[in-house]
Amino acid sequence: MIELQNVSKWYGQFQVLAECSTRVGKGEVVVVCGPSGSGKSTLIKTVNGLEPVQQGVVVVDGVRVTDPKTDLQKLRARIGMVFQNFELFPHLSVRQNLTLAQVKVLGRSPEEATEKGLKYLDRVGLLAHQDKYPAQLSGGQQQRVAIARALAMDPVAMLFDEPTSALDPEMINEVLDVMVGLAQDGMTMMVVTHEMGFARKVADRIVFMDHGRIVEDSPKDAFFTAPTSDRARDFLARIL
Ligand code: ADP
Ligand code: MG
Repeated sequence: MIELQNVSKWYGQFQVLAECSTRVGKGEVVVVCGPSGSGKSTLIKTVNGLEPVQQGVVVVDGVRVTDPKTDLQKLRARIGMVFQNFELFPHLSVRQNLTLAQVKVLGRSPEEATEKGLKYLDRVGLLAHQDKYPAQLSGGQQQRVAIARALAMDPVAMLFDEPTSALDPEMINEVLDVMVGLAQDGMTMMVVTHEMGFARKVADRIVFMDHGRIVEDSPKDAFFTAPTSDRARDFLARIL
């Protein structure tokens, strides 16, 4: 579903991604981890073309993201992305947040969009909050709305960039639980996170990055029991 082939990117002289290759099969969950500044956010944003690259090829569901002729707007409508900082529209109610892009981007009728949006709002356990505004919700609730909003677009894959790292500890699990449910339902997911409990539970593979390189891309069990790189061993020792 997602394929990166030898992706490299520079900011001026600074190489932020160095020959990164990996793939996420349909229904797979790949967790991306590594030290701060190692290029995780940049890598995941290359998948939907939010970060252009100078070298390499990115393909999502058969569409070449790195082809200049590709309509990125159209592509992004098919890939859900959830960021660290919720990014709901503050001036719109929860229900309006859920329906806006469905109507504007996918051309759905307001009725259809509302039905779909509320279905996913129910799924994340927040149906009763549809008339509230983001500021009236907790961080964990806002993030669950953001996930429901992405799902309402019927994405072929979901990207998560540290979705729980801005949350108070007591709210982390309510968001992870939603993500675990998604994974178990077969959603294709690429997830930047340091939540290794989540990784242990649902990841198929773990990608470990350091200084812009993918230094390890292993099945979950191999990564946790016998990381091949010293860097990954040190990292695990520090966070587990
Ligand atoms: P991570 O998500 O792993 O913390 P990032 O992908 O955000 O890492 O950043 C990787 C590196 O690229 C960092 O050293 C960061 O400072 C640098 N970087 C990110 N964005 C820019 C930019 N727009 N210009 C220059 N350097 C950047
Ligand atoms: Mg980051």
